[in-house]
Amino acid sequence: MGQVGVICPVSSERVSNADCRACSRSREPLFESWCNYSPEMIYGMTDGGTSRSTAFHSTTMLNGCMRQTRLGMSEDYHVELDRVFPAFRGQWGHLVTEHSPVPGTIYEIRFELDFQLADGRIIKFTGQGDALDLVRANYRDYKTKSESRFDRRANKRVYKALPTEVGDDYLFQLNAYRLLFYYGSPQRVVDQDAFGDPLPGGVTYYPGVPAQIELESHELFAWSMSECKRYPCAQIDYRAMYDEILRRLEIICAVELPPVPGDLNPATSVFCIDWCPKEIRAACLEELATAIPF
Ligand code: SF4
Ligand code: SF4
Repeated sequence: MGQVGVICPVSSERVSNADCRACSRSREPLFESWCNYSPEMIYGMTDGGTSRSTAFHSTTMLNGCMRQTRLGMSEDYHVELDRVFPAFRGQWGHLVTEHSPVPGTIYEIRFELDFQLADGRIIKFTGQGDALDLVRANYRDYKTKSESRFDRRANKRVYKALPTEVGDDYLFQLNAYRLLFYYGSPQRVVDQDAFGDPLPGGVTYYPGVPAQIELESHELFAWSMSECKRYPCAQIDYRAMYDEILRRLEIICAVELPPVPGDLNPATSVFCIDWCPKEIRAACLEELATAIPF
């Protein structure tokens, strides 16, 4: 279950991840021509979630439409490449940052913490932070943003400014990391920074042992191709954050599907029609239809 393939932009046909990868590596395209994506890009967008195999229930999964996330776990679906491209492109900022490391900082390490649901189940909650700076007790998160969007009514691309503040989803995400760095632990032993030097104070962080890293600040950096902005992020009290994560885990782990978010309508919302994978939107609508008592 999960992303099993793509909708080929050349033929509009559904193609398995394996066939799409094979097409990108072949001398003859599967259909009349190749698409605009290079083999590396195709591989990056057709991994079917393999690269997130240790994510369990992650900060990302508890943001946005959790109904879509849950249905993505039970339904096979195909993605439109131009819809997953923004997520793929978002990794570039992380890679650029990792390739310009600063001392005493660890990059892209996944932390985890167990949460107990009301029914007794233990759920592993995880988050993979971008840059955890142990010298400044500062966490930095990087987001790559589009500079323009397509305005359907005007039928043209229009400039899209960088955000003016930290939105609710990022506020949740960054504070979830902050909680994980203090109460959680890394999924592997961490005793070196990106240069291979000992961490400040010679500390070592072990799986299963709360890291107790107390941040003094955490920040978001959003960049487009031409500008970058720094956004200091508000800190949410640990207790309140713990309760909010648990509330979202209860919703996503419940027997019934998470409800449709209040700002979405699967039948009419642009996000649902344009951005939700077709199989997932169909399952979402079907569940709503069968849930109506006659
Ligand atoms: S590599 Fe491109 S052209 Fe080939 S099947 Fe995949 S999406 Fe279609
Ligand atoms: S159709 Fe909309 S509400 Fe339904 S799962 Fe997709 S994004 Fe969520």
